[in-house]
Amino acid sequence: MTTMDQQIAVRYCPDCGVAEEGPGRFCTNCFHLKGAEPNVRAATFLRRLAAYLLDIPLFIVTLGIGWIIWWLFTLANGQTPGKQVVGIQAVRADGRPLGWGLTFVREFIIKGLLIGFLSNLTFGIVFVVNYLFPMFDKNLQALHDKMMSSVVVKDDPLPASRARIDTTNDPWGGDGPRQVTG
Ligand SMILES: [Zn+2]
Repeated sequence: MTTMDQQIAVRYCPDCGVAEEGPGRFCTNCFHLKGAEPNVRAATFLRRLAAYLLDIPLFIVTLGIGWIIWWLFTLANGQTPGKQVVGIQAVRADGRPLGWGLTFVREFIIKGLLIGFLSNLTFGIVFVVNYLFPMFDKNLQALHDKMMSSVVVKDDPLPASRARIDTTNDPWGGDGPRQVTG
């Protein structure tokens, strides 16, 4: 491949301006989801963990039934109540919405029934591996994401006018400083 060919093939991240290299779904510099709108960026591991941990007390304080009704509404946005509270959502790997049906499959069939069943068989090992998987995966996907071809992103994309002043103080951490060029 010639230098000219390589230059033509390079795509630049609309968020941070660096060349989008590597096979992963996200910009390795700012975690923008490749191919998605600007400012659509990966949910951090901490946010995903917080969302999961929040669903448990939310289920309890709403006596279960409240959580289930809430859940049925949040599914349309690729969310659970916990995800909605911390501001993250599951989308297709190309950034398009999953929709209610695919989110239901992801949350109930894959995570609830399949991962739950395999976790019971393995004394919880599958459960732990699944939740830690995004930390080591180039696409930041858990096993249920791989089965659904989904990724988890922050659901609060900044309007372009605010993009230059954000995100070094994100209370959930891990996003890193934002570098805007051009
Ligand atoms: Zn970037």
